[in-house]
Amino acid sequence: MKRYGNSFKEQALALLPGDANYDMCLTCGLCSSGCPATGLADMDPRKFLRMAALGMDEQLATTDWVWMCTMCQRCTHVCPMNIDIPKLVYHARTLWPREKRPKGIIGSCDVAMKTDTGSAMGARPEDFEFVVEDMLEEVKETQPEQADLSVSMNRTGAKFFLNQNSREPMTEPDEMVPLWKILNVVGADWTYSSVGWAAENYCMFAADEEAWEKIVRTKVKAVEDLNCEVWLNTE
Ligand code: SF4
Ligand code: SF4
Repeated sequence: MKRYGNSFKEQALALLPGDANYDMCLTCGLCSSGCPATGLADMDPRKFLRMAALGMDEQLATTDWVWMCTMCQRCTHVCPMNIDIPKLVYHARTLWPREKRPKGIIGSCDVAMKTDTGSAMGARPEDFEFVVEDMLEEVKETQPEQADLSVSMNRTGAKFFLNQNSREPMTEPDEMVPLWKILNVVGADWTYSSVGWAAENYCMFAADEEAWEKIVRTKVKAVEDLNCEVWLNTE
């Protein structure tokens, strides 16, 4: 059985499955070459990992760079040793007091927690329903070839449950339409829900595990309540 101490690396190791080990790094640099955060705050994923291996705990727990990582997991996918750097970054984020984490991310998480839509922009169920209906009407009026375009809302038993990033209905509603058209052309059986529809989850980026889980559970419940088979998250 693995035993772990209190250092940054040891705590992060406890989060990894099986025999995974940060000391396995070959220092090949593949992770850094494709990382969008490489060079920011004088850091990159390989350097971050080497610092962990060298036990530079204090620097890792305080560098702003952890908030610049997009959690895209590109580094993990290219790593020949399958090392999960974003998990280490996530761990570093949890070491920050909540009030010191970036205000934009924390604020979006807090707003999302106040609605049963999960929207980081605070959109309510009726806002989403109104915008979708309004946009659909406009498309049909201005694009005669789209006369048969349809969008379901809260339809039970559809195969696909579609999420949507809040930014689209709230600021760029026409951005929702291309996907509607594609789903219509292929004859997909899909629906939106007026609750749990927001695709984003800033609580994950905020490293607020409890809030992250609550939001995911709200979304899962919405999928199950409509008895949909597949949850399509566009994020
Ligand atoms: S890609 Fe993997 S093995 Fe190579 S430097 Fe990055 S973490 Fe180390
Ligand atoms: S998950 Fe973070 S560290 Fe890895 S490639 Fe993406 S931004 Fe870089």
